[in-house]
Amino acid sequence: MAFAEVALGQIRSLRQAAIPRNYEIWYVYAAGYNSSLNRIINETLARNGRLSESDLEQIYETYLSPIRTTERIDKLGARVISEIDDVMTLITDALGMTAGFGDSLKGAADRLGAADSREQVKAIIEALMKSTREVQETNEALENRLELSKIEINNLQHSLEAIRTESMTDPLTGLGNRKYFDHAVEDAVARAFGEGGPLSLLMFDIDHFKSFNDNYGHLTGDQVLRLVAMSLKQTIKGQDITARYGGEEFAVVLPNTGIQQAVTVADHIRRAVMAKELKKKSTGEILGRVTISVGVSILRCGDTPDSLIERADICLYAAKRNGRNRVVCEADSECSFCADIHVQVA
Ligand code: GH3
Ligand code: MG
Ligand code: MG
Repeated sequence: MAFAEVALGQIRSLRQAAIPRNYEIWYVYAAGYNSSLNRIINETLARNGRLSESDLEQIYETYLSPIRTTERIDKLGARVISEIDDVMTLITDALGMTAGFGDSLKGAADRLGAADSREQVKAIIEALMKSTREVQETNEALENRLELSKIEINNLQHSLEAIRTESMTDPLTGLGNRKYFDHAVEDAVARAFGEGGPLSLLMFDIDHFKSFNDNYGHLTGDQVLRLVAMSLKQTIKGQDITARYGGEEFAVVLPNTGIQQAVTVADHIRRAVMAKELKKKSTGEILGRVTISVGVSILRCGDTPDSLIERADICLYAAKRNGRNRVVCEADSECSFCADIHVQVA
């Protein structure tokens, strides 16, 4: 309600149209989680004392509407169709022109055979030169247009790539999202089976996160999610795959990594998260620390991504049961299936 009131207050005092777009801009501004949006608004207000319709439109397009991937894909699709239409029209015209030129060459050959005066030959050659020039002009226009088209198609490719990346990214943490993870784990498992190397999976979950949210609010909770993601990014590098699996659960796929090494990596992440003391920026209030529990599984013969995830999940819940802020792997005695994994690890 407080954010809603700030948003409406801004719309009223700056005499802006009370439309959903403006409400969204001011709501996000009040909530404060999109710092680039806040920065551009503050700068524009400091400079001009107001936000014009075009400022609002641009702010929305740049900082909010990119979230609407479907809308962007539709727009991109329309651009592709219009580009193809333009080029097809041009090619059809050029083809018509070339056919006409072929006819005029053939006609000229026939007429030249029958010509019996200098004037007739001159007229035929002039007509030929004219149609040659026309074909040349059409070809030049087509070449220029195709060159432009090449640039436009290049831009479209980049836009598509950006949309693809965005659709695979979790906007809150910047990590890969669940869709990305599902693809990545499937690829990594197939590759590990193909190449015969080991592969480990870490699943981790923030401890007592619900009470953190309840005590300090969801926005602070979101900051903690970002902080955990940052610790993860700082610890994990190279070919390893990191993702936000869901709410406050994260997953890491470690190709070419055996279980002992995986446990070491898991412990690094656990320590990195625990090392950070949380402080509320606005008030300086110390919020304490968060911890995580980690489950580690290793790929076995006959595994699917699901069975690998399921075992990491069982280990994760064993870690929770055993007191949280710890790493449990398949080889640990806390896990019911530890007996056969010992054989695998050996
Ligand atoms: P445990 O140690 O057993 O994991 O306890 P927990 O409280 O972390 O676990 P539980 O599954 O009961 O609660 C998960 C909570 O995570 C629920 C919700 O409050 C919070 N949460 C999930 N997704 C988000 C999110 O995107 N943002 C914020 N702020 N909180 C989230
Ligand atoms: Mg939790
Ligand atoms: Mg959870």
